[in-house]
Amino acid sequence: MRSSLSLGRVHGIRIGLHWSLVFIAAFLWWSLGAQLLPSAVPGSSPALDWLTAGLMVVAFYGSLLGHELCHAGVAQHRGIRVRGITLWLIGGVAEMEGDSRSAGEELKIAAAGPAGSLALAVVFWALAELLSRAGASAVAVTAATWLAEANGVLAVFNLVPAFPLDGGRILRALLWKVRGRRQWATAVAARTGQVLGVAMAGVGLVTWLRGSSALGGPWLLIVGGFIISAARAQLQVVRDEAVFDGLRAADIMTPQPFTAPAGASVQSLVDRWVRTCPFSSLPLVDQSGQLVGLVTTPRLQQVPAAWWPVTPATAVSWQAADVVVCQPGDDLAEVVRRLQGARSLRAVVVDGYRPVGIITPTDLNRVAAAHRGIPPAAVRSVPQRSGSAV
Ligand SMILES: [Zn+2]
Repeated sequence: MRSSLSLGRVHGIRIGLHWSLVFIAAFLWWSLGAQLLPSAVPGSSPALDWLTAGLMVVAFYGSLLGHELCHAGVAQHRGIRVRGITLWLIGGVAEMEGDSRSAGEELKIAAAGPAGSLALAVVFWALAELLSRAGASAVAVTAATWLAEANGVLAVFNLVPAFPLDGGRILRALLWKVRGRRQWATAVAARTGQVLGVAMAGVGLVTWLRGSSALGGPWLLIVGGFIISAARAQLQVVRDEAVFDGLRAADIMTPQPFTAPAGASVQSLVDRWVRTCPFSSLPLVDQSGQLVGLVTTPRLQQVPAAWWPVTPATAVSWQAADVVVCQPGDDLAEVVRRLQGARSLRAVVVDGYRPVGIITPTDLNRVAAAHRGIPPAAVRSVPQRSGSAV
């Protein structure tokens, strides 16, 4: 999901709005300003109603952002990088690099969002009480009460066990914890998500056709469709990952990679290594042999030949933080999951700190292709993790 409008960064997390949000925001503003407030507080000034409705819409999307930031905060605290959060038509999506590594981690990340929404519901409810006791305008009390209810609904709806809603992620984490089998738990949660997604879409369609709800029907239809599609993509990921079951990093790595000193220039890399080395990736190491980066042929090709003598290799290399580093005995499926969030798409296998192998998309596709009946698994095939659908 690409943002159409960037709102800046919070703790390094890019916050953006998707253009589709405009429709729901406008509808929400109209329904609050023209319907809810005038009927809840008869005789109030239309100008005040529209102004308050506008503030309510902003606070609602702020609450949605708060929900996503709770997911993102816990994920980052656990070492999972969060690229950004996008608010769109039916809610928010947090793009995380990689998946949870344990059932407990998944449970904490998934539960953080509804917990945040619940906390916001309590805050707005307390605000409504305070405003009421202080004798504030009935419009302000109504607005705070509506925001409390909206956050309460957000918390409860997200707890529906329809993967990839938070409830579905919690179900997956619990199954994973009980049986100790991640892929099985993911498959069960995704299938449950598909069934509930179809049910939601069906109820949404019937409600819409009967015309009994202006927004509820289409909303459920869209959320149901989103859940069906995301659950199907997750099932495909489970099938792709089965290819790597039982394998270790050492089983498929290209062993004994050439390495180059981190202080080398692009010219010396090309002269001494690239023209003689059969591989497209070259780990850069410091004087002690420790990995400091990774140069790939496509990155070198970005530098005009005239600049090769004066361009240091580190200027075009992936930094160590962008490269997945693993041990020879590491579970390959876990390495692949980590690669899905890595910008370099390559893993360097180290023994201690010394590079002893490289795993590239070519290596992974070779293994997948050898697995009968399953198409080569592209490393980028996993959909972004969505923190919430409403
Ligand atoms: Zn959520």
